[in-house]
Amino acid sequence: MLLHACCGPCAVYPLQWLREAGCQVTGFFYNPNIHPWREYARRARTMERYAVLAGLPLDKDTGYELEQYLAAVLTDPAVPGRCHTCYRLRLARAARAAREGGFTAFSTTLLASPFQHHQLVQKAGEEADRESGVAFLYRDFRVGWAEGMQGAKAAGLYRQSYCGCIFSEWERFGAGRDDRERS
Ligand code: SF4
Repeated sequence: MLLHACCGPCAVYPLQWLREAGCQVTGFFYNPNIHPWREYARRARTMERYAVLAGLPLDKDTGYELEQYLAAVLTDPAVPGRCHTCYRLRLARAARAAREGGFTAFSTTLLASPFQHHQLVQKAGEEADRESGVAFLYRDFRVGWAEGMQGAKAAGLYRQSYCGCIFSEWERFGAGRDDRERS
């Protein structure tokens, strides 16, 4: 199966769970929501490093489609509409890549984070499933959040402090609405 990975730390628990369930997993990094570019590059490098550590084949979509991402989310820039669009963009691409790569299913590490809109991630995955014909594997990976973060710390992975887009960076550091550490 193809596992869309939003970042290295969030991939730790889902990968462990999927492997224990007998899945043969390939990672897929496609996240044009991450802003600015150097932050994107840092998270991509972290994912690559984790993939090496975990022996995970990684398919990295190098298209940093910032304009496409911004055009999509600016149609409804408020939360949670913006996040649903963001999930849809990323999971539709993952589902397409899964179909083209001959995978039988896809999933996402976004299901592991208690900071995401979990039901909207699930909805976006199910929409991408219907559009692509590739099965979306849903699982509430949040149950393994603490365990996954322990693994990420032990591996020395970079853990980001905001979700990814420029809006979320402003909400985290500018508007002062959310002082929780995010990953
Ligand atoms: S806050 Fe996170 S999920 Fe929502 S639009 Fe921004 S990057 Fe995407």
